[in-house]
Amino acid sequence: MSTPRDWIAGRRAELLAGLAGTEQRLRDVREARGDWIDEEHDPEGFALTFEWQHAEGLRAHDAAELQALDAAEARLDAGTYGACDACGQPIPEGQLELRPARTRCVACTDDRRR
Ligand SMILES: [Zn+2]
Repeated sequence: MSTPRDWIAGRRAELLAGLAGTEQRLRDVREARGDWIDEEHDPEGFALTFEWQHAEGLRAHDAAELQALDAAEARLDAGTYGACDACGQPIPEGQLELRPARTRCVACTDDRRR
């Protein structure tokens, strides 16, 4: 039987593995871009810039989720983990297992998007 701490640890391991891959890609792009970093109109340069921005976006996204996992762990310690931020109802375990950093139930997440 897995616990919220297992979910958080599992998700964190996934994110860290993803981040390591993203960092490697950023290094590769930086090297490939190397000399012609000024040639903005070079189509290959454009592709690399796009690749760079994509990888940077991924990195920011993963880093934000890692922070959210830290916050989730703090809520576990405080005994408030698993309650929806907005409506206060318990978030179903299945949802938490998929995204342990989740702070809102699906209904409230949908509300926010509208
Ligand atoms: Zn809710």
